[in-house]
Order: sequence, then C-alpha cells, then structure tokens
Amino acid sequence: MDDGLNPLLHPARPLWQRLMAEAISRPAELLAALDIDPAWPSLAAEKLRDFPIRVPRGFVARMRRGDPLDPLFLQVWPSPREAEDAPGYTADAVGDLAKLKGGGLIHKYVGRALVISTGACAVNCRYCFRRHFPYSEALGSRGHWRETLASLDADHSIEEVILSGGDPLALSDDKLAEFVAALDARPWIKRLRLHTRVPVVLPERVDENLLGWLNATRLQKVVVLHINHENEIDGAVADACAKLKAAGATVLNQAVLLRGINDSADAQARLSERCFAAGVLPYYLFVLDRVAGAAHFDVSESQAQALMKALAARLPGYLVPRLVREIAGQPAKTLLPW
Ligand SMILES: *Cc1c(COP(=O)(O)O)cnc(C)c1O
Ligand code: SF4
Repeated sequence: MDDGLNPLLHPARPLWQRLMAEAISRPAELLAALDIDPAWPSLAAEKLRDFPIRVPRGFVARMRRGDPLDPLFLQVWPSPREAEDAPGYTADAVGDLAKLKGGGLIHKYVGRALVISTGACAVNCRYCFRRHFPYSEALGSRGHWRETLASLDADHSIEEVILSGGDPLALSDDKLAEFVAALDARPWIKRLRLHTRVPVVLPERVDENLLGWLNATRLQKVVVLHINHENEIDGAVADACAKLKAAGATVLNQAVLLRGINDSADAQARLSERCFAAGVLPYYLFVLDRVAGAAHFDVSESQAQALMKALAARLPGYLVPRLVREIAGQPAKTLLPW
C-alpha cells in the first residue's frame, strides 16, 4: 500500500531508521538549532551537493549552543575552506580503488579484508577520506552479498572480515544478519569486525534486533568505534557501548587528529579517559588522510608527535592510542614514531 509517506519515516520502521531519516540536512537548519548566526559562512550550496550536510538531532543536542567553534559542530559544518585547493590532497587519499575486488572487498593486509558494505552514513564528517568514494560502483551489499561471499570463498587466508563503508550499521539488521550467517557457515573465518560511527551519533541503533544477530554469531566480534572528542559520549552512547560489550564484542576506538577539534594533549587525554569510562579502549589515532577538501583539518606530524609525548607522560599506557598514518601500498597502518 502506498500511503504517500517516506518509507523511512513509516511508523513500522525501527526507531533508529526514523531518526536517521530525520537527520538535519540543511545548513540553515543546523545553525537555527544551535542559535548560531544564520550568516555563519558555509560552503556554497552547489559544492555541497556532492557531500551534503547530515547530522542526527541527538548528536546536535551534544553541541554547545551559540558556539561555532564547538568541537562537534566543526566536524560536520561545511566550511568554505573545503573549496580551497591544497597540493597533495586527492580524491582517493588511501589508494583504496586500486585494491577493490568484487563485492566491495578491499584486501590490503594479511589475514583481514575490509568490505565496503554501503555508501550510507548516519553523519557526514567533513574530513572523511571516503567523501569522494564512488560507492555506486563498489558496494558489497548489492545482490544479497553474493559477490562479496564469492571473493571470500576465493581466498581462505582471510580470517577476519571487517564491515566498513560508509557505515555498516546504516544497513538494516535483516541484511546484516544474512551476511553474518553466511560468514558463520565459512569455517575458516574467525572474526567479524565492525567499523562504525553509528553507535556514537545514533546510539538508538544498538537495539534488540542488532544485539540479536550479534549475540547469535559464533564469530569473535570487535567493534571499532569512531569518537574524536569526549563530548560525543553521553549517557546513551555509554549505554550502547555497554550493550555491545555484553553481547561479547571487544569495543575499541579510532579517532582522527583534527585541527581545532582534538589537537591538544588535554583533549586527547579526556577522550581516552571518557572512552575507558564507557568501556572503550583507544586503538588508533590517525593523522589526517590527505583527501581533497579537508586540508584545513590537518595537524602537522611534528605537532602530533609532541602531543603524543605529552599524552604518554600523563596517561597509563593502555589509554595511549597508536599514532598512525595510512599510506597506500603499505602492508599495515604506518606507526609514526614520537
Ligand atoms: C585499516 C584497514 C584494515 C584494518 O587494519 P588494522 O590495522 O587491523 O586495524 C584492514 N583493511 C583495510 C583495507 C584497511 O584500510
Ligand atoms: S561516519 Fe565514517 S565513513 Fe561516514 S562520513 Fe564519518 S568518517 Fe566518513
């Protein structure tokens, strides 16, 4: 029956899908929600079309009102500086396209492969290294995972499957449960990893349906969240992390070092401590991938190294993330010495 409603807003849909569909998608609306001057400069509308603004209302609620320098706002606000050309900043900053196999599989590292499962995200982060990724050509979930599974069947050395995207938790639980059941049936696969920011920006996503298939799998589970600032973790996010852990997942965090957002030892120490309080261990701190449009977020390596020294001097070792850069063609993330 066509009742004329956007299907994503239909009341029979899970709450998280409705909240995702109701995300703020216009700059003026975000400024109004935060009481920021409506004339606050933004990227020109025609440039915004390729990578629009998108931010769930619950994430907006964690931003300071009236403060355009708020660390969460800065991650989602399309600055006019995105239009600046910066030498060395390209569309495929980490060399993913050259490694793409059938069904959205990227197998760069020994033993583990990443699946580009969807192009969708619950939030559009302005520094994202996949902001120019040609998702329509790469998606793994088309055709009910057939091609992805065929790629996995062709190489039994892959023991860990990493669902990435976009954001895998933007997919429906039916679709995810189907894929995980197919992995369960392949005895050489040991671990399932999810790279996701959804539990952070939309903690309602961690609902009974998700926990159902997560609990059911025989695979070992790792959830790598993406949290850049302590203010991203409120009570609802901490609850979502606790549920993931209760379902047997190891929960880690990877962050991106971002100028003006988390580029001090103090901000990083608070992030690590707040993560740990929510049961999440720091994993990687990435220096920025050199993706076109994001140069204004860059923190120099020498600054990053100084920050790490200061961080290590005040935190227990298990709360100090590994400072890394992703370099195309390398067999692993590259550790940056400090
Ligand atoms: C980052 C990444 C991984 C995971 O690397 P870890 O060091 O195990 O976290 C796997 N495959 C690809 C293509 C990646 O980019
Ligand atoms: S959630 Fe992750 S993949 Fe999606 S825009 Fe943000 S950084 Fe990029």
